[in-house]
Amino acid sequence: MLKRLEVKTTSRIQLIDITTNIRALLRSENMSSGIIVVYVPHTTCGVTINENADPAVKEDIIEVFDRLVPENANYRHLEGNSDAHIKSSIMGSSVNVFVESGALVLGTWQGVFLAEFDGPRKRSVLLKMVADHLD
Ligand code: ZN
Repeated sequence: MLKRLEVKTTSRIQLIDITTNIRALLRSENMSSGIIVVYVPHTTCGVTINENADPAVKEDIIEVFDRLVPENANYRHLEGNSDAHIKSSIMGSSVNVFVESGALVLGTWQGVFLAEFDGPRKRSVLLKMVADHLD
């Protein structure tokens, strides 16, 4: 089944923890085991799994992306957001999360983040929930 989350971003670049939203959707679907593919159908944002305990980790990730791919450089793309396209490709547009006993299989410190690189915007996160047929 395919589910959709709508996420409003509030600044040009930010990481937004969407783990709670994914857990809520999982509960509503009653899937006990399987896999969830979390995918963003956009060219200027990404999705990643990383630490959701210390907020400084988010800031460090953003800072390094900005250092690697500055907002303003000699880009050809006329829309003026080439850095966002490049950051999106580096990060990737999907992650997979296992589901066991009705719960996301994440490490203690892990969360799933939408990475906005050209906000603020309204973003869609698509979740493909694939249930095991073993139980
Ligand atoms: Zn563009």
